[in-house]
Amino acid sequence: MFKKAIVSATAMMSFFIIGVFWLHYADAQSEAAKARRPAQVDAARLIAADSDPGNWMSYSRTYSEQRFSPLDQINASNVGGLKLAWYHDLDTTRGQEATPLVVDGVMYVSTAWSIVKALDAKTGRLLWSYDPQVPREILIKICCDAVNRGVAVWKGKVFVGTLDGRLIALDATTGKPVWSVQTFDKTKPYTITSAPRAIHDRVIIGSSGSEYGVRGFVSAYDTNSGKLVWRFYTVPGDPSRPFEDPILSKAANTWHGQWWKAGGGGTVWGAIAYDPDLDLIYFGTANGVEWVRKYRSPGGGDNWFLASILAVNATTGRYAWHYQVVPGDVWDYDTTQDMVLADLTMDGRVRKVLMHASKDGFFYVLDRKTGELLSAKPFVPVTWADGIDPKTGRPIEHRGARYDVSGKPADISPHPNGAHNWQPMAFNPRTGLVYIPAQEESLTYAVDTTYKRSPIGPNLGISLSSAAPLTEPAAKQAAWNREKGYLLAWDPVHQRAVWRAEHAAPWNGGVLTTAGNLVAQGDTLGNFNIYRADNGEKLWSMPVRTSIMAGPMTYEVDGQQYIAVLAGWGGGYAILGGDLSKKSGDHRYNTGRILAFKVGGTARLPAVPLEQAQVLAPPAQTADAATIDAGRKLYGRYCVICHGADVVSGGVNPDLRYSGFLGNNGWFQIVLDGALKKQGMVSFRQVLDHQKAAAIRSYVIQRAIETKTSGENYAGLTSGR
Ligand code: CA
Repeated sequence: MFKKAIVSATAMMSFFIIGVFWLHYADAQSEAAKARRPAQVDAARLIAADSDPGNWMSYSRTYSEQRFSPLDQINASNVGGLKLAWYHDLDTTRGQEATPLVVDGVMYVSTAWSIVKALDAKTGRLLWSYDPQVPREILIKICCDAVNRGVAVWKGKVFVGTLDGRLIALDATTGKPVWSVQTFDKTKPYTITSAPRAIHDRVIIGSSGSEYGVRGFVSAYDTNSGKLVWRFYTVPGDPSRPFEDPILSKAANTWHGQWWKAGGGGTVWGAIAYDPDLDLIYFGTANGVEWVRKYRSPGGGDNWFLASILAVNATTGRYAWHYQVVPGDVWDYDTTQDMVLADLTMDGRVRKVLMHASKDGFFYVLDRKTGELLSAKPFVPVTWADGIDPKTGRPIEHRGARYDVSGKPADISPHPNGAHNWQPMAFNPRTGLVYIPAQEESLTYAVDTTYKRSPIGPNLGISLSSAAPLTEPAAKQAAWNREKGYLLAWDPVHQRAVWRAEHAAPWNGGVLTTAGNLVAQGDTLGNFNIYRADNGEKLWSMPVRTSIMAGPMTYEVDGQQYIAVLAGWGGGYAILGGDLSKKSGDHRYNTGRILAFKVGGTARLPAVPLEQAQVLAPPAQTADAATIDAGRKLYGRYCVICHGADVVSGGVNPDLRYSGFLGNNGWFQIVLDGALKKQGMVSFRQVLDHQKAAAIRSYVIQRAIETKTSGENYAGLTSGR
């Protein structure tokens, strides 16, 4: 009786608190929105999203993932008056890759470290914040920063996938967890960086980890209970056990050796689109473990379903069709970039298509009912293949591109950063154009002939220890000249470029397009830019001081249209790029921030704080040349993936040349004893002993001395937190 009274008093209290909270924030919303509880999104509402353009209720607004908004209050004639409406500073200075959602005047957004926030979309006032407290040691399982690309909303709940693999349902009113499930075996190097999608009382989520050693899958969970409804594995498991889907038995014929021991790869860490009429979900898969096929599948084979586009039934999770973009991939050509659905008139026929601007440099148009390839053409210079055979749908590989077969290093475009990476593209049905955040880079791929699978760190099978660092200004300039970034307007019917807007470097932001004849995209130098959708004329630009990688979105509150985007430098290019990524500008002032713009906004960004420069003061070199070279190779095997090519940090993880531990025992306490485990730098004792750790240190000292004598001596970067 007493217990009951407490329960009901607590219930009354929370009802009261929620009631007060609700009254408080409802006053800023339209009458229609006021009638609804927060995040009341369901199938009918999402399928009819075009008749509700003031809201942005899913990662790319609609299930078709077009990132086109019918809003046109901000348009080519008045965008010149666009100003900052509000901003909100985030808790971390790591990469920000999320697209915010807005439902009935409330913005829901995830940030680095899988933190979720709800804000008043009109003012930027914080309503609640939820931090899942991801253990920082997870960084050892992540190639490309502690990022998160967004949340899903459904019937009063907000869903986030956390880096350590939890799928959490939050109460949209309070930000308190309703349920939480662990989506994978935590002893394996899986992570989650992608945005979930909500479809028919199910929330769909994949994972990352194909650089490390996992088996890819995509899962559907019940939005009410968190119960697993179905799971589709993208790579066959151990063939001595029953296959989860009949298609995996066929897939197993395309593999050799004991691929399942390292999982095979093929993770689903990006695009998920949905066609409600066909009840099909479309997603793409990553590269294999290892990148080098002879290590993951000795004897070759196409290795289904790596680097593939897959369609599965949304209700059952059963296989419908697949199109393998890169059979037997060895170049890290993940096929996880956007899948954009549209109806296009091709050769006089209206076709239901799926469009995909792949990491591999080709733009693919598929029939999304059947998976039939309709066309594929390169949208950047491509050297790994001479084209895609329209009859077989297979690439015509360029001779020598398979460095693993030839045994000779090969300089290949695109680079593993991709001609197009996770940064979302957009399709505007009014102009008929796709807007791609495109980039040009190349990599010299070479097999690591001494490779052995490691229980810690990445398992690629290629050598990432560069013999010639870009210390010479002329060499650096030559390398910089080869890399490009631009916004590309692409005609998907005729497969040709219509216009392009050049950027200073690769790794620019995702794209939004609107019925106001606009295309919005941030850039790596820290400008937010708006172009005319039909001809590419630059209409407006504002420096926001921090690089923008994320995709912008737009919404309406109380009859006013806003455009919002996250700023925050980081991700794969920043972490691994070394001196190459320095072309993208000065990232010392890197503030994770939500920015919202409207015509006639009056907000101003705060003053830039003064940064303390780090001092480059390496100790004298005491090691011999052979030891330094051994250290170089070990650095390339275990350290480069987080600390950057040639020991040059892009500003996300610490720049080791500036480390205060190069001349003392602190180095070994960190590398071998895990003294900085809580910041993410775990012990490497499993793979390194004192002698090897000392060799790596001698190489780092050498790089610091080289940097100092080169006269470059720029200030060190503050690393992310
Ligand atoms: Ca990859």
